[in-house]
Amino acid sequence: MMRDILAQPAFDGIRGEEYAPGKGVVSDAELDEYIRNDCNSVYHPVGTCKMGSDSMAVVDDELRVHGLGGLRVVDASIMPTLTSGNTNAPTIMIAEKAADMIRAAA
Ligand SMILES: Cc1cc2nc3c(=O)[nH]c(=O)nc-3n(C[C@H](O)[C@H](O)[C@H](O)COP(=O)(O)OP(=O)(O)OC[C@H]3O[C@@H](n4cnc5c(N)ncnc54)[C@H](O)[C@@H]3O)c2cc1C
Repeated sequence: MMRDILAQPAFDGIRGEEYAPGKGVVSDAELDEYIRNDCNSVYHPVGTCKMGSDSMAVVDDELRVHGLGGLRVVDASIMPTLTSGNTNAPTIMIAEKAADMIRAAA
């Protein structure tokens, strides 16, 4: 469908060469193979590691893993939900906060 759209005359002056998947990839089977081999996610996974005290919670409010000594989870997985902006800076903030808590406990 993308090829059909870009083949329209309105794109004649600005259309470049197709670089991916390329002219050699034509049949549905070839397109399927390209998608299987080359697609990747730019998803921002967070929130797989619930903080709290109920039976589903993985860490407590100082990021210590319930039931295990000496282990904290310090990454985007402890975010309760996806941030509305990008995730890298909040992840660094979680790490800074955790460093303070770990040093305070030492
Ligand atoms: C393609 C892409 C683009 C992105 N662009 C942006 C952006 O522009 N701006 C932004 O703010 N965010 C962006 N993000 C999101 C951001 O990179 C992540 O939210 C952030 O890095 C999450 O940090 P993390 O510490 O939770 O996980 P990660 O950064 O994934 O760190 C996990 C670390 O654990 C290591 N690890 C895994 N398993 C093991 C193991 N068994 N033993 C030891 N180490 C292990 C891995 O090697 C890795 O170093 C992007 C993400 C992707 C995938």
